Amino acid sequence: MSTALDDTARCPCGTGLTYGECCGPIQRGQREAPTAEALMRSRYTAFALDDVEWLLASWHPSTRPRSLELDPGIRWLRLDIEHAAGGPFDDEGMVAFAAHWVADGERGVMRELSRFRRDGGWRYVDGTAR
Ligand SMILES: [Zn+2]
Repeated sequence: MSTALDDTARCPCGTGLTYGECCGPIQRGQREAPTAEALMRSRYTAFALDDVEWLLASWHPSTRPRSLELDPGIRWLRLDIEHAAGGPFDDEGMVAFAAHWVADGERGVMRELSRFRRDGGWRYVDGTAR
């Protein structure tokens, strides 16, 4: 069950914009992500809000899992985008990021290099830990 977030709240992905100006419309399918980074941000926000529906919808059909279970014990604290490529005129994109989490009082960082493909809009293909 996803957590509702008011459009005037600060977006969890950390742009400093409100949710309604940032990831909200992308997750609701009202706006295509213009860049691979914007899609990545919306996916991070989906993790933060338990929005499994958007995580699956934003996944490229060639690698999309049938279903997805999110760990309810993990709380996502912050996203740092370290490198991003993939704009409106590209077909492939890449985003290197660090996502900070806390679970049972312990903090950790997930570092990944994610690959994206623009195929009817930007979609997540796969990622490797780094
Ligand atoms: Zn956002």
